[in-house]
Amino acid sequence: MSMHRLFAEQLRCATDAAGQVDLVKLGEFVSAAYEAGDRERQRMIEIRAQTRDEVEQDLLRTREFLDTIIENIPIAVFAKCAESSRYILLNRAGEDYYGMPREQMLGRTPEQIFPADVDRMVNEQDKRVVASGMPMFLEEHLLEVGVKGRDRVVNSRKMLITDGNGGPQYLVGVIEDVTERVTTRQRISYLAHHDALTDLPNRSAFNAALAERLERAQEASTSFAVLSLDLDRFKEVNDVFGHPVGDMLMRAAADRLAAEADGAFVARIGGDEFMILMPDHISREDVVALAERLVEAIGQELEVQDYLLHAGLSIGVAFYPDDGVNAATLLANADSALYRAKREGRGRVRCFVSEMDQELRDRRLLQHDLRQALEQNQLLLHFQPQARVDGEVIGFEALLRWNHPTRGFVRPDQFIPLAEENGLIIEIGEWALREACREAASWPRPLQVAVNLSPVQFQAGDLERSIHQILLETGLSPARLEVEITEGVLIGDFTRALNLLRRLKALGVRIAMDDFGTGYSSLSYLQSFPFDKIKIDRSFICNLEATPQSAEIVRAVLSHAHALKIPVIAEGVETEAQRAFLAREACEEMQGYLVGRPDLMERYLDLVGVTVERRLYA
Ligand code: C2E
Ligand code: MG
Ligand code: MG
Repeated sequence: MSMHRLFAEQLRCATDAAGQVDLVKLGEFVSAAYEAGDRERQRMIEIRAQTRDEVEQDLLRTREFLDTIIENIPIAVFAKCAESSRYILLNRAGEDYYGMPREQMLGRTPEQIFPADVDRMVNEQDKRVVASGMPMFLEEHLLEVGVKGRDRVVNSRKMLITDGNGGPQYLVGVIEDVTERVTTRQRISYLAHHDALTDLPNRSAFNAALAERLERAQEASTSFAVLSLDLDRFKEVNDVFGHPVGDMLMRAAADRLAAEADGAFVARIGGDEFMILMPDHISREDVVALAERLVEAIGQELEVQDYLLHAGLSIGVAFYPDDGVNAATLLANADSALYRAKREGRGRVRCFVSEMDQELRDRRLLQHDLRQALEQNQLLLHFQPQARVDGEVIGFEALLRWNHPTRGFVRPDQFIPLAEENGLIIEIGEWALREACREAASWPRPLQVAVNLSPVQFQAGDLERSIHQILLETGLSPARLEVEITEGVLIGDFTRALNLLRRLKALGVRIAMDDFGTGYSSLSYLQSFPFDKIKIDRSFICNLEATPQSAEIVRAVLSHAHALKIPVIAEGVETEAQRAFLAREACEEMQGYLVGRPDLMERYLDLVGVTVERRLYA
């Protein structure tokens, strides 16, 4: 094999399929080339007589070949005299690596070229290699003040080449700058453990941190707290203002959390959920105080683009070891506490207490019983009159009641969320619709009946068909049926909900917006669909006298609705003063204890035109 074919073969071996160069092999190749160069010269002298020209040609070709390779290989290669430390070879990548042309290096010692600290390091390495005769390989070491003035990460290999008598002759070095590769790898690993939107650690990073913390805490018998956080109205912002604004709100909230969290480990574990791992040994009071500060910080308006947004935050807290000694229990209990915080009106902090465990079990039990409620006729409807502000009754709202065999009446606020959770609301909602329509169809006076619809009925089931079917079945004129929806219906798949509402309206059914003013976007929703009625939430009515803002809000809603020509009904009217205020502000209708409480239809028969005798003997 000719000399340069041999080298080409060695070089190929030093390069893997992906084009990565194996520095150890490459180093061996370069030093072998040096040694071979010497041997070749020796051989040439020996065989000078016969084939001198041939050998010279071969040698020349080999040299040129080697020079070309070494010059062009994208890895810094240098050689220096082992004794004097003067550089005698530097390739192009070497010039680039050192940041200087080879003329400035060749023939000089490190001392003449580099700053003192680099010179010291280079000399030490050289001495070590010369003294031991062993190659030195340093993988991914940091050149702190890199020779080019920047920190670089390099793989380097330095080895000694000896002369025929075993004395040190050359030091050959290959250096690969792997800074970019290492940075990319670090970036990938960073991304795997961080949330791209907020730059906070993600769920897997949190789980790892919690596992590590638990291990340490078990060994050292320390205590710590885990906080489970949930932004209160993020989904609404997303739906109303769009995802770009939602994203910005999320980032702003994350920044605020991280800034206020006093160095605790803050992670975003999904959607609008965060977790915080508190440092060891922080007292219960201090943990709660910090959590309350976070709630307050997020509760303040966040300015995002040109919007002033209100997000709100709920927090559940669980403590190690009191509330759990493993990750699963701690997290579940922090979540129960969060659930309680949300249920108690959001924007608050709740610590886990063992009754929550009980409460959760109780909920499951109730949910289990609910399955039988329909079959065993435990559900019934109460009706509450709706009237014009002058007092004339114009219809009724049907309100579900559950007469539980052992617990007595369970409030709809308690069981409807359970029925929504397991989908039972589809069946229950259909039952309520059918019952309400059947009842209304039996009234001699053609008063209207209002039925509440759950957002879940919009997402699943075939609401349009079932309403159509019920109207046919009961013979109720569609114009007498009003369905009440809340903003929850429009949150999520807005277009789908809007299409369904349009189709219901096409059936001739009227559509009312319930609990108006409690959501985010109330006003913007009014423009998106021609509602037949707006129901101002009772929280504004009951505060009419107490807080001037409520009166302002009611006035604003009325003027906006009037501009859109949508009639308004005020919920929860309990006093004559409230009625008088509404009459002055030209509110059309009212509903509340002042007119009548929700009750069995029997109580209101006269209002619907059924005389008691007729009902009894019909
Ligand atoms: P909602 O639709 O806003 O119903 C009005 C609630 O206000 C009723 O509570 C009613 O009893 C109460 N209320 C009426 N007048 C007054 C008043 O003057 N003062 C006070 N303090 N309260 C008054 P209820 O019956 O407990 O229903 C609560 C919620 O449960 C309803 O709120 C509705 O969202 C839901 N719901 C009731 N029935 C159904 C149903 O058939 N299907 C669905 N999906 N939800 C229902
Ligand atoms: Mg309602
Ligand atoms: Mg309401």
